[in-house]
Amino acid sequence: MTLAFEYTGSPAKIVFGSGSRGRVREMMDDLGCKRALVLATPFQKPDAESLAEDLGGLSTGVFANATMHTPTDVTEQAMVVLEEADADCVVSLGGGSTTGLGKAIAYRTDLPQIVIPTSYAGSEVTPILGQTEGGTKTTLSSPRALPEVVLYDPDLTVGLPVGMSVTSGLNAIAHAAEALYAKDRNPVSTLMASDGIRALVDALPKIVENPSDMEARGNALYGTWLCGSVLGTVGMALHHKLCHTLGGAFDLPHADTHTVILPHAVAFNAAEVPELLAPIADALGHEMPGLGLHEFAKSLGAPTTLIELGMPEDGIDHAADLAMANPYWNPRKLERPLVRRLIEKAFHGLPPAR
Ligand code: NAD
Repeated sequence: MTLAFEYTGSPAKIVFGSGSRGRVREMMDDLGCKRALVLATPFQKPDAESLAEDLGGLSTGVFANATMHTPTDVTEQAMVVLEEADADCVVSLGGGSTTGLGKAIAYRTDLPQIVIPTSYAGSEVTPILGQTEGGTKTTLSSPRALPEVVLYDPDLTVGLPVGMSVTSGLNAIAHAAEALYAKDRNPVSTLMASDGIRALVDALPKIVENPSDMEARGNALYGTWLCGSVLGTVGMALHHKLCHTLGGAFDLPHADTHTVILPHAVAFNAAEVPELLAPIADALGHEMPGLGLHEFAKSLGAPTTLIELGMPEDGIDHAADLAMANPYWNPRKLERPLVRRLIEKAFHGLPPAR
């Protein structure tokens, strides 16, 4: 069969390297911006203040109330601060929650965003914006939400606690795993997904052993960029549907939920498309990608059960119903008993199906 595919590259500027957070001024200049509002979570407020101080007159101040799942009332508070300060761009310093706030502002105003990611969530290279209003999360995709500049600076990830580094890294691997069998995959997305998985599989054990291993921190961010990029360009399937369902229905932590579900979703789909999941098996040096991911996560001390994330056992049936309602496209046909079994195995942390 001759090759035929569609590929849309992201127009974002990516700057990689230790110390690149010091290049915000230069990036603002390139974008023609003069007044940046710096965004962060309350926990990372000191880092945001130090960045604002470095920017001097180019900063209008800091809004440090970014919150998980981008609640719209927080975005509205930030919009008031932004308008009062007459800011002409946002600089988001932090993980997916802070990036989410910057994207929500850009979606409403079309202001340019400069993102300095400090976790491995990958949101900075996708046009996807998830927002929560009245407890309900909705997701949209818009070119306005896609950040213009990303400064990947491994120095800022050294403080990411080991446990979060592991779950955040597995969250990134989950994007790439589903990109490997996406309906609209193409040779470029497969290349990026495979190398992203390889980089993270190599880096995470080294980070667990030595959180200050700068080479490993750099490789993990490189993997994050690749895995996030494919999340932004091809469609996701059963794994992401399950994580959104479980996270929303039982208020489970985002990266941890991805970590627990991933081996099971991959094993489920490996039964249908084993050849497409070979890059995971190769990276792990394990014949079975699902089981390999389960053992890899365990070796890193990651959570392996939905019990420890706080899901109630009587929620398994409800979760199976939700996962079967408006399912995403998936390479293997979804049948409720099999999906229920998958969730039950993840609940108890049993090895995934062979
Ligand atoms: P997070 O941004 O909520 O970070 C968790 C905590 O860790 C925060 O307090 C944060 O300040 C802190 N933190 C982050 N980096 C740190 C560092 N280097 N050192 C010390 N502390 C640090 O968590 P996350 O997992 O990065 O992001 C999760 C959010 O991102 C969710 O809302 C999820 O839906 C969203 N997300 C969106 C996309 C997308 O494409 N739209 C992709 C992935 C994740």
